[in-house]
Amino acid sequence: PRILTAAIYTKDKQLFAIYDTTQENYTQFYDFRDQEDYYVFDSKFLHLYQPITLQSEHTIGGYIYLKATLNPIQKQLNQNIFITMLIVGSILVAILPLTSRLQKVVSNPILQLLQATKAVKDDKNYSIRVSSTDFLEAQQLCDGFNSMLEEIQSRDEHLQHLALYDELTGIPNRSLFVDHFQTAIAHTRRAGTQLAICFLDIDNFKPINDKFGHEIGDKLLIDVGKRITDSIRKQDTVSRQGGDEFAILLNDIDSDEQLAQSIKRIHSTITQPYLIDGFKHNMTVSTGITLFPDDDGDIDTLIRHADQAMYSAKLAGKNRYHLFNPQLDQQIIQKNHLFDEIEEALNNNEFTLHYQPKVDMATGEVFGAEALIRWQHPQKGLIPPIGFLPAIEGSQLESEIGRWVINQALAQLDAWKTMGIAMEVSVNISSSHLQSSTFIDLLSKALKKHSAVPPKALQLEILESSVLGDIRVISDIINACQRLGVSIALDDFGTGYSSLTHIRRLPVNIIKIDQSFVRDIMDDPSDYTIVTGVIGLADSFNKRIIAEGVESTEHGLALILSGCSQAQGYCIAKPMPAEDIPNWLKQYRPNQQWIKCASKRRTLQASKAELFSLFTQHWISKLEAFIQSPMEQHTNTLTIHFEHSHFNHWIKRAQHEYVLNNDALQQINKLYSKITTTTAKLFKQHQSGKTRAAQNCIKTIQSALAEVCTLLRQSQR
Ligand code: C2E
Ligand code: MG
Ligand code: MG
Repeated sequence: PRILTAAIYTKDKQLFAIYDTTQENYTQFYDFRDQEDYYVFDSKFLHLYQPITLQSEHTIGGYIYLKATLNPIQKQLNQNIFITMLIVGSILVAILPLTSRLQKVVSNPILQLLQATKAVKDDKNYSIRVSSTDFLEAQQLCDGFNSMLEEIQSRDEHLQHLALYDELTGIPNRSLFVDHFQTAIAHTRRAGTQLAICFLDIDNFKPINDKFGHEIGDKLLIDVGKRITDSIRKQDTVSRQGGDEFAILLNDIDSDEQLAQSIKRIHSTITQPYLIDGFKHNMTVSTGITLFPDDDGDIDTLIRHADQAMYSAKLAGKNRYHLFNPQLDQQIIQKNHLFDEIEEALNNNEFTLHYQPKVDMATGEVFGAEALIRWQHPQKGLIPPIGFLPAIEGSQLESEIGRWVINQALAQLDAWKTMGIAMEVSVNISSSHLQSSTFIDLLSKALKKHSAVPPKALQLEILESSVLGDIRVISDIINACQRLGVSIALDDFGTGYSSLTHIRRLPVNIIKIDQSFVRDIMDDPSDYTIVTGVIGLADSFNKRIIAEGVESTEHGLALILSGCSQAQGYCIAKPMPAEDIPNWLKQYRPNQQWIKCASKRRTLQASKAELFSLFTQHWISKLEAFIQSPMEQHTNTLTIHFEHSHFNHWIKRAQHEYVLNNDALQQINKLYSKITTTTAKLFKQHQSGKTRAAQNCIKTIQSALAEVCTLLRQSQR
């Protein structure tokens, strides 16, 4: 129906036949020559022609022309365009949300990643995660990012754990403990209760570690940490401070009983046996405690106090707890620190013996020397025994040092013997060393080791003030020493609590009068009385007697006149290193005054009269010295007061000791009051600067005393 016209033309293009619906003139052949193709579209129609070729002749026989309307095609075309538009439109409608969704799928994760990165960077928050998406690549990116964060987070958590928790036991470490401490302090202040800061140390942990190895040691520590954690309350804190030390905070302590209960509970759980790798282990602990707010300070101070208290608990025998006591614990710690130093000094051979000669004043002979220990400290120099011996009193270390002293003294005796120096050497022995079970055995071994030294050359000095043990036991030891050939001296005699019992019951050979009595013999009549008393006692009990602390010739003379001729003191020689002894012996000159005084035989009364004149001279020389120096320089004028002097004492004693006739007694009383008034005058004159007048007073006193002396001598006859 679309064909409007169909025409056949002859080969010379004359219309031959036509079908036409358009009524147009088609005689004219439609010329296609200028067209390449055999069809032409104009706006409305399609013109098409086809030459008619005879197959046999291959010549054109004519043409066929067709004209078709384009209307339906146009329509179709329009329809198609419309449909296409529709399709494109609907595709566009469909694509838009799709692209926006696609955009979302791709960009959202990137945005999230951005935000997450910012949060990680700014807040160090590694716990955030970016949400997953359906878009494969984006999902992979997110997953990668998340797992990276996970890794960082787990490392961060591990680091944080390491920073706050002990790696081995998993319980809080010092940092977290400090943190909890601050909270606990604030809570304690608010609640008005007490906070116990405890420092706990396992007893003898090192031997366990050494014996069973660190692995077992570690397991034990882990167990201890767990047990403590289980035995404290939630609000309390336990932390490992390092090694086998734990610190505990116990909150809300309202009474000593409650504290004791808590500590006992902790101790009892720790002391339960531990089964590790088939082995049973037992442990005890020592705990030191300090209580806030009574003990108020920063964490370091409080922990240090608890630590000191723990030390005290250890020293008291371990397996116990001890409440901090500021004064006591400080002393204990210092002493203990010194103790460790002394122990090290013994190992480092820092001790040395100095020797102080002992002489017989009557003959001038140097018969012996006392060995006195010194610590040649590498930094502090030479330390005397008072600087270190008290810190080790009663300890095993004291005995070890004692053993060293005995061996050293014997070695010295040995060395001197080869040099031709024959002396007896006395060593000081502490009471606990003397009473130790191995003492006699070790002494005998030491003597055997130095067999060239005769045992009698060794003397042991036992401090009278320290002989506090069972007298029978000590007597047995003394006897055993004597059986070995060693003599025993009772040192510092007169300073003990029961000197009379000691001199009666202890079978010692020698009594050493303590220097504190000897030192003031010239000025203090009481000391003189004690010294003469001790000399008398020693004589009665048939003991040798020696005086220590002889600082002047006068001291020596007084001692000789009182019946003691053996002496040791600065006036003879100060203690010196062993190597100085040979030279000292060479240059030593006996004190002739002593020899002379001792050589004279005299009655007891004559000795007393001589002593009286000795004290007179001493007192007069003191008075002379007194008036020579300005008044304000005198700090102690007591010794020059006549009332406190020997004379007052002697004159009083003379009144009933000597059989004085009334005449003599009256004369002495007169002289006594003369001396008293003249002394008072002397003081006044010296005070007002009248030295000359004061000197005259001395002369008056001197002559009065001489008169007394004569009267006393006369009365003896
Ligand atoms: P000690 O056994 O009574 O020794 C005498 C002390 O008096 C010594 O002091 C000595 O230097 C000192 N001395 C001696 N003559 C005089 C003097 O004329 N004037 C004064 N002011 N002092 C004098 P050192 O060496 O300081 O010894 C003190 C104490 O230490 C000794 O008293 C003794 O008890 C003890 N000691 C010394 N060495 C040892 C030792 O090896 N073992 C033990 N366990 N104790 C020792
Ligand atoms: Mg001594
Ligand atoms: Mg002494």
